[in-house]
Formats: sequence, structure tokens, C-alpha cells
Amino acid sequence: MARYIFITGGVVSSLGKGLMAASLAALLQARGYRVRIRKFDPYLNVDPGTMSPYQHGEVYVTDDGAETDLDLGHYERFTGVSARQSDNVTQGRIYQTIITKERRGDYLGATVQVIPHVTDEIKAFALADTEGLDFVLCEIGGTVGDIESLPFMEAIRQLHNDLGRGQSIFVHVTLVPYIAAAGELKTKPTQHSVRELTSLGIQPDILLCRCEQPLPESERAKIALFCNVRTEAVIPALDAPNIYSVPAQYHAEGLDEEVLRAFGIEGAAEPEMSRWLDIMDRYANPEGEVTIGVVGKYVGLQDAYKSLHEALVHGGLANRVKVNIRWIDAELFEEPDSDIAARLEPMHGILVPGGFGVRGSEGKIASVRFARERGVPFFGICLGMQMACIEGARNTAGIAHASTTEFGETSEPVVGLITEWMSAEGLQQRSAEGDLGGTMRLGAYDAKLTGNSVVAGIYGGTDISERHRHRYEVNAAYREPLEKGGLIFSGMSPDGQLPEIVERPDHPWFIGVQFHPELKSKPFDPHPLFAGFIEAAVKQSRLV
Ligand code: GLN
Repeated sequence: MARYIFITGGVVSSLGKGLMAASLAALLQARGYRVRIRKFDPYLNVDPGTMSPYQHGEVYVTDDGAETDLDLGHYERFTGVSARQSDNVTQGRIYQTIITKERRGDYLGATVQVIPHVTDEIKAFALADTEGLDFVLCEIGGTVGDIESLPFMEAIRQLHNDLGRGQSIFVHVTLVPYIAAAGELKTKPTQHSVRELTSLGIQPDILLCRCEQPLPESERAKIALFCNVRTEAVIPALDAPNIYSVPAQYHAEGLDEEVLRAFGIEGAAEPEMSRWLDIMDRYANPEGEVTIGVVGKYVGLQDAYKSLHEALVHGGLANRVKVNIRWIDAELFEEPDSDIAARLEPMHGILVPGGFGVRGSEGKIASVRFARERGVPFFGICLGMQMACIEGARNTAGIAHASTTEFGETSEPVVGLITEWMSAEGLQQRSAEGDLGGTMRLGAYDAKLTGNSVVAGIYGGTDISERHRHRYEVNAAYREPLEKGGLIFSGMSPDGQLPEIVERPDHPWFIGVQFHPELKSKPFDPHPLFAGFIEAAVKQSRLV
């Protein structure tokens, strides 16, 4: 039976619980255990799919088409285990399930309550779909003390009892702030947050203490004493130079050893860390650097493009170069006296990422044009591919009014609403009036690549599967004029209906994809499109 590790956070939010969970899972995996990580989000949205990227950061999409929290991206990148719908639940989804059951009459007249009905639903979620696993790590979103997270705290308290002795532990992540004026690290917030946790019936086994300064032994002992844990179980977590050094750092501080000890597991294999040491070496010792301009809309918040950022870094690891990313607001290029050339000339590659809505779109189209005309490597993802097609239609196929129906009515819908497509579950149909939540073309779909295309060379084959999240699609009726203008449709859905990839073979590197390759890139297995894009940027950097 799988053992459970419940991870909670205290003091403040943004402590990096997700990265901590991912790193601990990576360490257990490096010791030969089979792991899976789950995220429990206390908010009332059914999923983050309809939330603004400014509110919640990127929406991470799984193979099975779930729109999930971005922490699932960290989990996948650190463990290589594909996340599933059953790895992320929100309080909203829990309530939706309960209310549906209540309306159906499933509760047979009982009063429906937080305890036991909400907590039972949370527990059922934690326990489902765990066959063959050694460890399930459950990260509880939010901070101890939040009203919203109470049912989750109660559920994991109950689970700890239900599972029986030695089957689950609690790891609490806290902050030990440094007060510069006093020159001291302060343990009081940690003490208070553990007290809050114990008042809910949860005694942590391990404390992971985030700190900017090394934690002196005396402070470690003090935390242990006041929080009722062993001194060795107070793990200092100093800020790391980069996220991929976190597993090795936590291992050096004894985190995985303490976890195994808390479970009473003795004689476990030492972790095999060569994969992480190689990544750290590549990261720390680049042989060159390139600068990539990302022209998008949500550039004020890096979390909005989390996976994209990581995939670009992975492309750099594959080529042993440092990737400098310049986040550029597409709206800057919409002003009449925009200095687009001055801003984009220093870039060795230009990327237009996924997005929604008309704002900044003309600036994105102008960036595509710049990349095409100047021979600068160009990568368009999802909306970025759609912008590349509109740019191609307007400027290389003579379709002056080319646009997308996403931006309003148009006489030349080069991009339009997809109303029908085939999925594993059969024919999917949508209309313009439908709901916004969970109704896009979501998750893994196959595509067929043209044999002699640039992308087939990059993938090393013609059959691919990639993750999607879109409502609009390039209109295949415009294929002929676009191809005459040099933009070749080199990847299509297996039924030949939906364009998946476009490329310009007469350009050093110009590729647009309807899917999100960044979601599947891993530091130890960089996505071929990102490895190829950065390789082209390296060549470009030698030219300019
Ligand atoms: N807004 C576009 C669509 O729905 C692109 C979506 C995206 O970039 N993820 O098709």
C-alpha cells in the first residue's frame, strides 16, 4: 500500500511548497521508489482553467486534458511522471461533486455537512488511483490558518489515523526570516505556525525551514524543542541558486533520510543523483549564451509563462548555453512610433507564446514579420502560430484583411472557432454560445508530420502526440494561398482536418505549433523543438 506524505505550508505563501514536493519526490525516485504527487487547492473555482494568468499563473494541461495548477508542471519536470486529472483537485470541484450527489438524492435524506461529507470526498480523492505506488505526496495549497484550507487539514488529520501507524507523515514548510537590523534569524513565526497546525490535530514530523541565511545549530535546536520534533528533522532550506539544484541541496541537508526515518524505513538505497549532477553542471558551466525575446501579453508575471520559461532553460541545457529571456509586452509594438527594430535586433530568437484575446495581437503580428523578414529564428506557440498564419496571409499571400474570429467578425477568417473535432471519446462539438470552462480542445492529441519537413527532422519521426489547449484553429481552407506564400503546413491532425504545425523551409528556423510543447519538456529530457530553437539561436548569435 502506498505511503502518504502530507505537505503543508505556514507563515507566508509563496514558500515554494510545490518545488519542495517535487524535489522530495525526485529524491525518493532516485532511491528507486515509485512516486506520484498531488495538489489540493482550497479555492472555489472548479479548476484554474477560467482564471486569469495574472491571478493564478499558468494553467498546466495534462495528457488526459485536465486544466491544473502550475505546480503539477514542477512535479512532472522533476519526476518525469505524467500528471493526471486525478492529481489536482480544488475545493470547488469537491463541492460540485457533493452538490451533484445531493441533487440526485444520493445522501438519502441526510444533512450534508463539511464533516463528514466534504472531508470524505477529499479523502476519497487522495486515496484513488494509487496502484503500484510506494509514495503519494499530497501538497495542500494555501497557508495554515486560512479558513478555506480547514476541510483539507481535517481530511489529512483523519487520513493519518485511517491509514494506520507508519503509513503517513506530515511535512510542514515554514519561513525563518532574517531581521537585518538585529542581524538575527527569527524562529517565532515557525513556532506560531506549528502551534496553529497542532491546534488542528496535526503534529508535523519534519519541518522544512526556508531561510536566506544559514540556520545556526542553536536555532535549529530551539525550533525542535518548541515544535516538538527531533533536531535532525528541522531541515534548513537555504535559498537555492537555481531550482534544479534543490534536490541535491535538500539531500545534503538530510531531507529524504529524515522522511524515510519518520516512516521507520531502514537500509534504503542511497539516491542515484547522476541525472541531477549533470543538469547542475550544465547549468553552472555554460559554454555561451543567447538572448530570446518572448513577445506576449502577461509579461508582468513570470508565473504566467512558467513552463515556457523552464522549457527555454532546458533548450539551453541541451546546447550547453545560458538562455537570457527578455519578456516584451506586445502592446509596445502597437504604437505608431514603435521602436520594434531597436528592441528586437539584439534577440537571437523571437518567440510568440500562447494567449487569449485581441490585446497586443498587432504587436505580435509585427514581431512575426520582423523575424520572417530578418531571418531571425522564430517560434510561435498556439496563439503564436495563429499570429504567424495571419502575418503570412497578410504579407505573403495578399490577404490584407486576414484575422481570427477570436478578435471579432472578419471577412477573412484565417483562424476560426473549431466547432468539431475527433477525440478519443468520439466527435466533439462546440458552439460560440457554449460555456468557457473546460470546453477547449484539451490534452494530448496525435499529429502526423510530413516526411521531409523540418519538424520531422527535429522530432526524428512523423508521429507525435502533444498537449493542446485552444478553442480556435488555423482554417485549412487557406492552406493553398498560405503555402504559396512559403508557409508550409507540415503537421496535421491524423484525419487531415486540423493544421497542427506550420513552417517556412526557406527561413533559418521558423516554426509555429498549435500545441504547447513546453508542457512536456524536462531538464533531463529537453523538448526537441526547444533544443532546436536554441540551437538555431546559437547559430544566429554567431552571425550578429
Ligand atoms: N486563443 C487561442 C485559442 O483559443 C490560443 C490559445 C492558446 O494560445 N493557448 O485558440
